[in-house]
Amino acid sequence: MRLHEYQAKEVFAEAGMPTPDAELAESTDEVLAAAERIGYPVAVKAQVHVGGRGKAGGIELAENDEEAREAADSILGMDLKGYTVERVLVEQAVDFVDELYVGVTMDRGEGKPVAMVSSEGGVDIESVAEEHPEAIAREHVDPAFGMHHYQANRAVYDAGVDREVASDVAGVLTTLFDLWENRDASEAEINPLMITEENEVVAADAVMNIDDDALFRQPDLAEMEEEAAGDDLEAKANEYDFDYVRLDGNVGIIGNGAGLVMTTLDLVDYYGGTPANFLDIGGGAKAERVANALDMVFSDDNVDSVVFNLFGGITRGDEVARGINSAIEEFDELPKPVVVRLAGTNAEEGMDILNADALDVEETLEGAVQRAVEHAGGAR
Ligand code: GDP
Ligand code: MN
Repeated sequence: MRLHEYQAKEVFAEAGMPTPDAELAESTDEVLAAAERIGYPVAVKAQVHVGGRGKAGGIELAENDEEAREAADSILGMDLKGYTVERVLVEQAVDFVDELYVGVTMDRGEGKPVAMVSSEGGVDIESVAEEHPEAIAREHVDPAFGMHHYQANRAVYDAGVDREVASDVAGVLTTLFDLWENRDASEAEINPLMITEENEVVAADAVMNIDDDALFRQPDLAEMEEEAAGDDLEAKANEYDFDYVRLDGNVGIIGNGAGLVMTTLDLVDYYGGTPANFLDIGGGAKAERVANALDMVFSDDNVDSVVFNLFGGITRGDEVARGINSAIEEFDELPKPVVVRLAGTNAEEGMDILNADALDVEETLEGAVQRAVEHAGGAR
């Protein structure tokens, strides 16, 4: 589960992390009222689960009412990489002289959490990691002991952080690590951690992903998930117990089994299409699960066609086919073309049963993917 920026900042602030004064807003009037209370200049920031909002036009600075109104009008309701922006965070703007990156994640290779600091903070830490991995200082932490002060200090020193702010940055890193651990996070990240002229250190952005399997012992975070569920397909997927990742393309993909779905994604790309999502409905294919999966992909406005790639195993192909047939009975007409390919146990029996009036039934995976790409406007 991924927290929104405003939620992660609440959690950060509670733990004593320096965050800017901020308020959530859902309308232009609310933006103006929040800006009035906080005082100009403010930053208006889209609250959707996409990275790189800054570059994509989802963040604007405002010096006065007029600019705040413009920012609100342009960001609220905008489409940001497939997400409609329904809420913005209005935040005291930070006048910064430097932007750092700090993060904590699990290093599976080492079997230990790793704390990271870089003086190359700002928008694009992924490309820093690729092109200049040495620009990110890393400190592995023994979970039995937690992060020692000398480790936080060493990471900050190795990253070449200015002396004047080094001890505050080390403090932020320690707090971030404790949060990561106590809140069952898989990732916790501040990018940028802004440094002001007065050598103040401020968390200007906040990312926190929580381990879904630990939500039972983080009830306040689980509540945050429900609060945000309305506008969020990923939260909906959690409700249905699907593994779902939204992507930028227009070919919806549904399968049972993560490997099968990944293969389908690769093939869509291979045939010149662009996947709209990863959706693994897991074992079996009961009518209700199929119906929920269709509901998910159809509620993504970017989807122009859907490819169903299903494998009959313990759940046989004919059962899968019946599941699909009864799921699509709920529609008078499917809103987008749906291509189905069945394989595995009783696949032939399944294909015979499938409702070929409403669905495109294809025998091969390649054929099914190509057909779905055609329906979605053809190869790029
Ligand atoms: P992201 O692009 O989605 O990661 O959003 P961030 O919150 O990290 O903001 C991206 C960039 O917007 C930052 O690196 C800053 O350059 C700019 N920005 C965000 N908030 C502020 C602010 O309060 N003041 C100023 N001057 N710039 C900001
Ligand atoms: Mn950021």
